Amino acid sequence: MITGKQKPLEEIQRLIEPYRKVLILGCGTCVTIRYCGGEKEVATLASALRLSEGMRNNPRTFIEYTIKRQCEQEFLDEITDKVKKVDAVLSLACGVGVQALAEQFPLAIALPGINTTFIGRPEELGVLSERCLACGDCVIGLTGGICPITRCAKSLFNGPCGGSVNGKCEISPDIPCAWQLIYDRMAKLNLLDKLVEIQPLRNWSSSHSGGPRRIAREDLKLPGTG
Ligand code: SF4
Ligand code: SF4
Repeated sequence: MITGKQKPLEEIQRLIEPYRKVLILGCGTCVTIRYCGGEKEVATLASALRLSEGMRNNPRTFIEYTIKRQCEQEFLDEITDKVKKVDAVLSLACGVGVQALAEQFPLAIALPGINTTFIGRPEELGVLSERCLACGDCVIGLTGGICPITRCAKSLFNGPCGGSVNGKCEISPDIPCAWQLIYDRMAKLNLLDKLVEIQPLRNWSSSHSGGPRRIAREDLKLPGTG
């Protein structure tokens, strides 16, 4: 899932500085599950901001609200009236949610309260780890279900690089060498012979390197839409 971290309070305070009435908008999906942008985090952030306003003569007003998904129009429709009544919306969604907000409400100030970090999975409570860079052409069928693009610091397709020490990546003793993981898993699966095959140069046009991507599913489009 998409993972993020709430921005430091001081940065959020700087972002909202020009605005008197701010809607703090949570998202009920990925960031709720990741404890950084759901209803509870909206309430906690609103309380912290109200406290920090406490000594002012004319404190800002904070409105709290959370919708199911900020990245989809049907859920954003629900806040049209609320957006009209505030000076800015501080979004606790991922970067997609903030941009959806800005696109749907062209005259609204949309501010990010979250630093979107990566697509990953929880390893244990409170620990998340990156797993996928959304490259657009998944190769993990060749590597035992372990992503060499995301999990190898050099995104090597024909690893390892030679810098691995005791199964850890040379960039940090805290990070497992992806190619050690791949080797171990392929050995368990009795598929080591597959690793001998040299993978050809990769065409990165399906990744973000080819520019912003778009998927148009003809089977899902409504008749007459572009
Ligand atoms: S190969 Fe690409 S799509 Fe597959 S897990 Fe890695 S980055 Fe994600
Ligand atoms: S040590 Fe392993 S994970 Fe790190 S860059 Fe080299 S091959 Fe990749």
